[in-house]
Amino acid sequence: MTLLDGRSLAAAIRGELEEEISIAGTAPVLAAVVATDDPATQWYLGSISKAAGSIGIAFREERATAHNREGVLARLESLSADPGVDGIVCMTPLPEGLMLAEAGEQIDPAKDVDGASPVSFGRLGSGLPAFAPATAQAVIELLRHAGASLAGVEAVIVGRSNVVGKPLALLLLAEHATVTVCHSRTRDLPDVTGRADVLVAAAGRAQLIGAGHVKPGAIVIDVGTNETDDGAVVGDVDTEAVEAVATIVTPVPGGVGPVTTAVLLRNVVSAARAAP
Ligand code: NAP
Repeated sequence: MTLLDGRSLAAAIRGELEEEISIAGTAPVLAAVVATDDPATQWYLGSISKAAGSIGIAFREERATAHNREGVLARLESLSADPGVDGIVCMTPLPEGLMLAEAGEQIDPAKDVDGASPVSFGRLGSGLPAFAPATAQAVIELLRHAGASLAGVEAVIVGRSNVVGKPLALLLLAEHATVTVCHSRTRDLPDVTGRADVLVAAAGRAQLIGAGHVKPGAIVIDVGTNETDDGAVVGDVDTEAVEAVATIVTPVPGGVGPVTTAVLLRNVVSAARAAP
């Protein structure tokens, strides 16, 4: 079994971007709208800011107070209209009652570098150019990096969220995989996941996927990030159990996470390149 290293893939993507930015000679600008003090979100913001700075992308954090739904929507709207901003990301959790897709409606699709807008999702599903959520794209990057041929394979995704499961299903369909999406009401999960040549776990449940869920020889991509009682971060996959069955597994941390950040920055560079 091989552990697929997301950190080195992310570093390679950042290296290409750094070169492109230096040749272009102007710094693309990414803005993040934040309405939470959630520690996991703060950590993610820190890693985006650090990675952006390291390759010459300017990063702006726009704070809205928690519970201030109108504040979030107004900031997204004004950043969309701001010619000095190339990419916009809206951090979660959002004020209660505000869905990410609703917030995403305020983001200009040309700047929607994390695929939050329903317009981006519709374009993606229609086969038109669009930014997909960075995490879903990161899964495809890791599969390509692993040399997986996706045409005709059985791909099973556990999780149907708007940010991971659903857009990833569209991306895998575009790669000609045969796609099944599982969720909390799926009957007999091991039976369905056990058919997968490519299994993607994105449920947010520690240790959900064990050896009995995995087809011998499968590639397993672990999107989950779950905090344990002692503060460690683990995925949805029981890696120790699965390593006897799968050929490739992504680690947590160090798998999907760093590639997600790198892909997000790549989207910012693409948005800047396409800007009028
Ligand atoms: P989410 O919105 O909570 O969605 C979780 C999905 O998993 C839902 O569709 C849910 O089903 C399904 N699910 C939950 N328990 C299940 C079970 N026992 N069996 C089968 N399906 C089950 O979460 P998300 O935002 O998609 O994130 C998923 C995980 O990925 C989280 O751990 C999150 O932290 C992580 N994540 C990582 C990155 C990264 O860059 N590394 C980025 C985004 C998310 P229902 O729809 O029926 O409720």
